[in-house]
Amino acid sequence: MPSLALLGGSPLRKRPFLRWPIFAEADRAALLKTFESGEWGGYGVAVRQFEAEFAKAQDSLHGITAANGTLSLEAALLACGIRPEDEVIVPPISFVATATAVLRVGAIPVFTDIDLQSYNLDPATVAAAITSATKAIIPVHFAGHPANMDALMPLAARHGLAVIEDCAHAHGASWKSRKVGSFGNFGSFSFQQSKNMTAGEGGILVTNDARLAELAWSYGNQGRSPSGAWYQHDRLGTNLRLTSLQAALLGVQLERLPKQLAQRAKNAARLRSGLDSGSILCAPEFDSRVTAHGLHLFVMRLNTERHPELSRGQVAEALIAEGITGVSYYPYPLYRNKLFQNYRHRVLPCPNAEQMARECLWLTNDVLLGSAEDVDDVLSAIAKVTEFAEELLSMNTEKAQ
Ligand SMILES: *Cc1c(COP(=O)(O)O)cnc(C)c1O
Repeated sequence: MPSLALLGGSPLRKRPFLRWPIFAEADRAALLKTFESGEWGGYGVAVRQFEAEFAKAQDSLHGITAANGTLSLEAALLACGIRPEDEVIVPPISFVATATAVLRVGAIPVFTDIDLQSYNLDPATVAAAITSATKAIIPVHFAGHPANMDALMPLAARHGLAVIEDCAHAHGASWKSRKVGSFGNFGSFSFQQSKNMTAGEGGILVTNDARLAELAWSYGNQGRSPSGAWYQHDRLGTNLRLTSLQAALLGVQLERLPKQLAQRAKNAARLRSGLDSGSILCAPEFDSRVTAHGLHLFVMRLNTERHPELSRGQVAEALIAEGITGVSYYPYPLYRNKLFQNYRHRVLPCPNAEQMARECLWLTNDVLLGSAEDVDDVLSAIAKVTEFAEELLSMNTEKAQ
């Protein structure tokens, strides 16, 4: 085999992978139909229809769309009555919005550790972090793998805590055959460009609680009440509305989701069977209670037993040089971001999150929705990096000199 592309060899893959988002004539038709209706704003029929369809698809009674999946988290926190000085437990392995939404409502994020199988909040560390100030938990279904709702829901109930599921990675995912977002007081989804359903930007809350649905809707609609008059404002709100043009696109994306989830599952299975114990990257293990994995990301861990000196960053760099696009990772747990220095927060010991952030990287839509040949190219690239691990290491020492 020729040398690594990173060290001057020829890249294993020269063709581009597919480009996300996937769209077709149906998206164009839906968009044009709404365009021509002239009903473009957040009060249009396309929005109401999408809210109903998406809520149903997530086993929920109510859907409340929002401008994005960050503001939907804020709306959920406010609807749940989270006040300044309240503590909200969040995982350190997530996108920053999970924690900054807590800060934006004046509350205090408390970071507790994850487990190293699902990379989600470990219920035992959550239990240990609860104080009299704790008012809510935001479990993130990281990568699309549902968090342990069997343990988290009773724990929250015992302490009277609200649960807001951050489902930004988990459209269509289910835990014991029940869709995520339907367990907690709210489920919050994102439709940002990279997510498994997208309208470029966008978000939605789902809930089974009519009162919470009304509060969240009111907050995002200038404090109006669903049955009130247009210029009647009953509480302080803002404008979080999604447009009808976005909702029209999302309706088509939702129809496509089951087929795409099946494709993601097929490619994930092929990746898993292609990674053995000698490989430089280890395949993820999924909890048997996960009945549908969202597979937004396919998370792999560096095989540190085989290659203790190699870094995750080097492996990622080598794979990207081989032409494998979409390889990415979180550089460190969230609480290491500078912004938190200026805000009250608590960090409990998070050795697993530290290890995850050091050792894991992932593949994204372009591989997970690709063909079997695409997946095989990724496996060949990983095999190539595995074979040339020593060369990659020597680059390390050259750099150090
Ligand atoms: C993308 C994302 C968000 C925020 O969604 P936006 O729509 O980009 O505001 C929140 N949480 C997680 C885990 C995310 O990945």
